[in-house]
Amino acid sequence: MNAEILKANELKKVAPVFGQLSFDNHEQVVFCNDKDTGLKAIIGIHNTNLGPALGGTRMWNYASEYDALNDVLRLSRGMSFKSAITGLNLGGGKAVIIGDAKTQKSPELMRRFGEFVHSLSGKYITAEDVGMETEDMDTVREVTPYVAGISEEKGGSGNPSPITAYGVFMGMKAAAKYKFGNDNLVGKKVLVQGIGHVGETLVKYITEEGGQVLISDINQERLAEVSAKYGAEIFEGDNLYGVEVDIYAPCALGATLNNQTIQQLKAKVIAGAANNQLEDELIHGELLQKKGIVYAPDFLINAGGIINVYAELVKYDKSEIMRKTENIYNTTLEILAKAELDNMTTHQAALQIAKNRILAAKK
Ligand code: NAD
Repeated sequence: MNAEILKANELKKVAPVFGQLSFDNHEQVVFCNDKDTGLKAIIGIHNTNLGPALGGTRMWNYASEYDALNDVLRLSRGMSFKSAITGLNLGGGKAVIIGDAKTQKSPELMRRFGEFVHSLSGKYITAEDVGMETEDMDTVREVTPYVAGISEEKGGSGNPSPITAYGVFMGMKAAAKYKFGNDNLVGKKVLVQGIGHVGETLVKYITEEGGQVLISDINQERLAEVSAKYGAEIFEGDNLYGVEVDIYAPCALGATLNNQTIQQLKAKVIAGAANNQLEDELIHGELLQKKGIVYAPDFLINAGGIINVYAELVKYDKSEIMRKTENIYNTTLEILAKAELDNMTTHQAALQIAKNRILAAKK
């Protein structure tokens, strides 16, 4: 093992939370454990300058606790910037539950998790993320009011994913306009990686406009279903990132833009729903810039869901939500232009605006 890795491992032992690579002055990190239900969760509250920390709960079978902590730190930080750039008065937070959502999730576990959320007195408000359904949020609602994304029958706004997909579609069209001079996706080939709640609706929007879609997922049943429904082609082969497409839409998990994948990419535009697409925001943002690939920052274009969820907490007005989500098109164009003008990556340009707003709120 080289000296650098040894040093990093030593640091993790003496500073397992505050010394984490992904730690970014988070305000609070809460570890939740319940022996009876088997709940093991971590709530990350990154910043509350602009308001309560709102962000979904992800249930995932993490390979290690380190991975779970790393994920919650990265995701909660991303939420601060997402809400800030979208102009919402919300801070950034997120939660992860360690386990398999298909086999280990139960109403008891979700209620116990809700009690932990409640113990934070509204500083953190939860909602859906990967591995969660609207019914799970309804269960959490039984024990705490600090939850959004609950079902329409229970007075909520339902699953936010279709609105997220609409925002991603807007961001994709803006990025296409910037790169190709036209935002019409007719004849454009788009790879959608991950055809879950958001990915499927995105496939619908693209095919409705006349774009060609190539889909990829680890779930074979969904691939067959979505392909049959929208006439999308299923990716077959072993070099997904090197496939000839115009646009790549990461809609599964994060960090798919890294040293290995960027080298192979043929796509000219990247616009997708997944959070934290850049494995390293500086290094990989710059690599994309060097390759002339237009990257629509994830936290900017996947904000439709948070716009919808926020409205559930204040005043639910569907047309206002759609207007705000549609505006992601304009904001994306502004950010892409700013990045070029200021000679920085598109991610940095978006981050700068978000950080300024958070800082101003503190003052
Ligand atoms: P989901 O769980 O419904 O869908 C994820 C899909 O990705 C699943 O079909 C899964 O099988 C697939 N997948 C997982 N690993 C994969 C891999 N290695 N290769 C290909 N496919 C893979 O989740 P979702 O709600 O659609 O969210 C998708 C992404 O968008 C997540 O990163 C999420 O954090 C982000 N996001 C979602 C929302 C929202 O409103 N749901 C909002 C903002 C951001």
